[in-house]
Amino acid sequence: MYENLLANIPTELWIGGQWRESSDKSRFDVLDPATEDVIASVASATVDDAAAAVDAAADAAAEWAARSPRERCEVLRRAFELLTANAERFARLITLENGKALPDSRSEVAYAAEFFRWFGEEGVRNLGQLSRAPSSGARIVVQHRPAGVAVLVTPWNYPAAMATRKIAPALAAGCSVVLKPASETPLTMLALMPLLQEAGVPAGVVNVVPSRRSGAVVSGMLHDMRVRVVSFTGSTEVGVKLLHEAADNVVRPAMELGGNAPFIVFEDADLDEALDGAMIAKMRNQGEACTAANRFYVHESVHDAFAQKLSSRMNALKMGNGLENGVTLGPLVNGDTRDKVQELVEDAIAKGAKVTAGGKRPDGKGFFYPATVLTHVPVSANLVREEIFGPVAALQTFSTEAEVIELANKTEFGLIAYVYTRDMKRGLRVSEKLDFGMVGLNRGVVSDPAAPFGGMKQSGLGREGGHEGLMEFLQTQYISVEW
Ligand code: NAD
Repeated sequence: MYENLLANIPTELWIGGQWRESSDKSRFDVLDPATEDVIASVASATVDDAAAAVDAAADAAAEWAARSPRERCEVLRRAFELLTANAERFARLITLENGKALPDSRSEVAYAAEFFRWFGEEGVRNLGQLSRAPSSGARIVVQHRPAGVAVLVTPWNYPAAMATRKIAPALAAGCSVVLKPASETPLTMLALMPLLQEAGVPAGVVNVVPSRRSGAVVSGMLHDMRVRVVSFTGSTEVGVKLLHEAADNVVRPAMELGGNAPFIVFEDADLDEALDGAMIAKMRNQGEACTAANRFYVHESVHDAFAQKLSSRMNALKMGNGLENGVTLGPLVNGDTRDKVQELVEDAIAKGAKVTAGGKRPDGKGFFYPATVLTHVPVSANLVREEIFGPVAALQTFSTEAEVIELANKTEFGLIAYVYTRDMKRGLRVSEKLDFGMVGLNRGVVSDPAAPFGGMKQSGLGREGGHEGLMEFLQTQYISVEW
């Protein structure tokens, strides 16, 4: 099964439009999380390789930036078409290296491709401004120029979409990029490079440097004067480190960091719709999503019915190798992630939580953890404060609107919150009081290339998608004109 899928998948560094081995010849293994088998050995970039990638990006930058927006956007449109035409191959590859079930991988590829389409449309709308200075005869001309070489660092949970969400706006803006994908899942982006080349992306405009030495490699690039943007998606812990690194050369940061999403079910919610939303918000990507519902707050009058129905839906999921037909819950990405989920569940149980589904790690190969529901979760449980990043729904109850708003906001994170109620007046009132960059109001999924995705507080800085996503890769210049 693997041989076919992995045939012709590149495993070297992609620098200046060519495949290269690492300068010290080092490599690292990529595993299939369902079997723990090694599926590929990938070149591990050194600091020198990363510098060569910045050279390539800097050399390619001027010509790419000088092209007309329409020309650049047509390349992006072709990238959308090519990725869509190859969707199944990419979906299988994502499942192979990340573990997620095929339906999740298919959704991811569609979502990833949409960023090329959206920014291929948005890139021709780089609007400036002309106005008259209020107290002189001068004119104020404002335009937005490509920000320069961008370093992109992405996580393993969406190997395609987290990268295209950065590559597409960067290219639309006229920037060239160096991407460092997560070491768990480097194959998807390497496989995308021939497609981007076929779409017409010139050599050096997109470079990919997988590496086991992420810290040194990224730090090296952020201390190169030609790098002007760092766009990172990953944990808050690493994001904070990169903000410090970026400060040295005043590199502009865009940070998509961790979350701790509340999922609020009011007593007047349509319970079946709330359950549909809960299954998506919790179980998309087997819970390995920054947008995953982490804390369920269910009104005390509907809690028992909600818990019972959620448990039976969770028990109905089929856990197994994500490549097999009918599987809806794949393994977690690696042993550490699975062990952390298990520890969080055990901690909650020790502090009084009750298990109504799952809760027990299976024996055997593969980083599997079952769909789990915990009720009576005490506020002292670690999973109330920490991102679970796994298929575990942790339920608490509440009685009043004011109480649940306070509970929901009691976190240093602020990425996304979900609210279910039939009363739209209440829904909007509560949404406005939630300190989160995004709110799903009677919706379990909000991700949309046309909308600004991003967090408040320690969940990040900047936005991806929408028009805002383009602006992250542009810098404003004002020219004062004696008219
Ligand atoms: P991570 O922070 O461990 O790694 C992310 C990337 O940073 C990887 O490419 C990794 O190799 C690299 N990295 C690790 N240490 C580094 C260092 N010292 N310097 C430079 N780069 C370094 O995160 P992860 O485990 O891959 O992903 C899970 C996290 O990502 C979760 O916290 C999740 O919430 C977050 N996430 C956020 C969003 C969002 O849009 N807000 C989306 C997806 C995931």
